[in-house]
Amino acid sequence: SQIVIVVPEQACSYLPQLACLVTHLVTEHSQSHARPGFLRKAFDLLDYPERLQRMLLTPRREIHLNLVITLDDGEIATFNAFRVQHDNTRGPYKGGFRMEPTVSMEEVRSLASLMTWKTAVLDIPFGGAKGGVQVDPKRLSPRELERLTRKLVQQTKSMMGPFVDIPGPEISSGTQIMAWFFDEYSKFKGFSPAAVTGKPVYLHGSYGREYATGRGAVLAIRELLKYEHEGRIANKEFVIQGFGNVGSWAAEMLYVRGGRIVAIADKTGGIVNEMGLDIMALKRHVKARPPFGGHLNTFPGGKPVKPSEVVSVPCDIFIPAATSGTITADVARLLQCKYVVEVANQPLTPDADQICGERGIVVVPDLISSGGGVAVSFFEWVQNLQNLRWEEEEVNRRLDRLMTDAFAAVWALHEDKRCTLRTAAFMRGLEKVTQAHINRGFD
Ligand code: GLU
Repeated sequence: SQIVIVVPEQACSYLPQLACLVTHLVTEHSQSHARPGFLRKAFDLLDYPERLQRMLLTPRREIHLNLVITLDDGEIATFNAFRVQHDNTRGPYKGGFRMEPTVSMEEVRSLASLMTWKTAVLDIPFGGAKGGVQVDPKRLSPRELERLTRKLVQQTKSMMGPFVDIPGPEISSGTQIMAWFFDEYSKFKGFSPAAVTGKPVYLHGSYGREYATGRGAVLAIRELLKYEHEGRIANKEFVIQGFGNVGSWAAEMLYVRGGRIVAIADKTGGIVNEMGLDIMALKRHVKARPPFGGHLNTFPGGKPVKPSEVVSVPCDIFIPAATSGTITADVARLLQCKYVVEVANQPLTPDADQICGERGIVVVPDLISSGGGVAVSFFEWVQNLQNLRWEEEEVNRRLDRLMTDAFAAVWALHEDKRCTLRTAAFMRGLEKVTQAHINRGFD
């Protein structure tokens, strides 16, 4: 909503003070907090008083930036960017900057809060943050993208740092962007590899970070099948939504374990093969340039379909690994699976989650199954702080342990409280963060 203030001429010399007052009033009244949606049931079961709930949901800091850069043709362009630091009671704020044209402060706020609960559920000593830049990186040249990243660092450096707030990979911000981030930050603050995670392996990155989210998802699936007495991944059928870094690595790791990926969709199209897609060939195809490759639906090893048709392909496990909010209530009604394993952040809307519950579809929440990435980010940070490097097997072994323990704890709570896995995961996250707040005190 808009507020119009008419200032009488005589008061014009007080304009700066008035501006201050107005800013204060507006921020007081618009004090925002993450949507409680999914948390409500966990709050009820924990019987948390209203004020505690409010404190836990309210981010400590939110900032809105305007990043101005020069384009290659000499024109200037301005991009909106956001950073929300939700909670740092258990450790430095942690979370990536998502580069998406549609990203909003509201979305970033909600995702920042998700990081707080995710790091707590996984028992990683980090808090939660998230950022976003309103940009379609495909429409920028590599040089423009580099300038935009460097400008983002210049405008946020005072609120970031290895013990303050640590960015990591997110949608459309992979190893190259993390490398620019590290380089720009180090110009101002001195050599600081621990200031950002998800860096390339030859630039202080960790072995195993690139595929960590996919690997974490596969470990969560392994544990789910174990607890549900469903056997192994081999011969189970999967449908995957999203074939970016996360979706393609999850697909490959399921495939090498004998899983059958019967359908995959991304923004450009979908591909179905009831016998199982050859994921290695599909990856090579997607890497090749159009017209011979590039798109999922030009892959010769399957039947091309519209992305929307993929969600109703029958399977054991449906894996949303694209972006937030892709599984709406309407989509949830079409799913033909026993399980949904969330590998994107917040892919299911609260309505969709409810419909899955009513239809008897078990949902493994993002709080666990998308946690492999931030877990290995934590390992990268630990290695950077000590100036050493772990072997790839060491990283993978530790990730396995961390995911197995987190899954076991959430499963136990889910059985004990007879609640969904999501509610159990939120309960575990909320309890850890609340306990840390109580131990540290509020003053
Ligand atoms: N984007 C990932 C997540 O949401 C990883 C974040 C990070 O490593 O900081 O969990």
